[in-house]
Amino acid sequence: MTIETVGIVGAGQMGNGIAHVFALSGYEVLLNDISQESLDKALVTIGKNLDRQVSKGKISEADKATTLGRIKTTLTLTDLGQTDLIIEAATEREEVKAKIFDTLLPHLKPETILASNTSSISITRLASRTDRPERFMGVHFMNPVPVMQLVELIRGIATDEPTYTTMLDIVARLGKTAASAEDFPAFIVNRILVPMINEAVYVLYEGVGNVQSIDMAMKLGANHPMGPLELADFIGLDTCLAIMNVLHDGLADTKYRPCPLLTKYVEAGWLGRKTGRGFYDYRGATPVPTR
Ligand code: NAD
Repeated sequence: MTIETVGIVGAGQMGNGIAHVFALSGYEVLLNDISQESLDKALVTIGKNLDRQVSKGKISEADKATTLGRIKTTLTLTDLGQTDLIIEAATEREEVKAKIFDTLLPHLKPETILASNTSSISITRLASRTDRPERFMGVHFMNPVPVMQLVELIRGIATDEPTYTTMLDIVARLGKTAASAEDFPAFIVNRILVPMINEAVYVLYEGVGNVQSIDMAMKLGANHPMGPLELADFIGLDTCLAIMNVLHDGLADTKYRPCPLLTKYVEAGWLGRKTGRGFYDYRGATPVPTR
């Protein structure tokens, strides 16, 4: 199937990046959110990220202008109904995602492909609530989307071959690389990455190290480009906790229990960079550890 127009639901960290890469690759993008502030912020972020690509010589000023010209925004979810592909990138809560698909369904073209950028929720279960489980897939971009090379492609139990090959072609047109994962909790990257982050929070909780020593240990001792706590702040602590809960519930193994300290940070609303505070406080000129 030829995909020309793409609807994106959720204009947060991931949604704006997904809109950016699709528009830069020539797709017409319609970006939706429930908050006008998120839509406005997304356009500013996309503009800044395109500027960075211009200054690095990766794209021209003209590419930036055409890319921005291809992105429209709307507060009305059903406006996305006539697009060829819809990628849902809203908050990582199953009831939020299910309601989005329920609202969209009566307005869709029969051939429209539905996809979710979920980090961990079952694609098969999300698909089963729709009228097109065969044209439903997990398309998991990494953060920050314009920079990261990988896209995990997750087929639900019912996803058909044409839908999968269409998505493989799209990932190639975006200039990215696909890794295919089976539909089990958190897929490949987060099944490995997020329990490591959760373990780093346990190390902090038990007083084995402080924020700085834990991050430094993993950067210099394991050659990770970012420490696990710095990375958690970057991903969003609410997203990390949601993924641990999905692993814990979905695999029913106590080794995936979320660290109580991670829960406490989320309860405090200290969600990382996006709220200005997490394992580090970002409100000043340089990040300051909060423990
Ligand atoms: P975010 O909190 O930055 O953005 C979520 C956006 O969704 C917000 O702007 C919110 O207003 C909007 N939203 C909430 N309910 C909505 C609705 N009913 N309709 C339209 N918009 C709605 O979150 P994020 O980090 O961008 O994560 C979005 C999704 O991408 C999640 O499923 C997450 O698991 C996944 N993901 C996140 C990362 C990451 O590193 N943050 C990486 C890969 C995938």
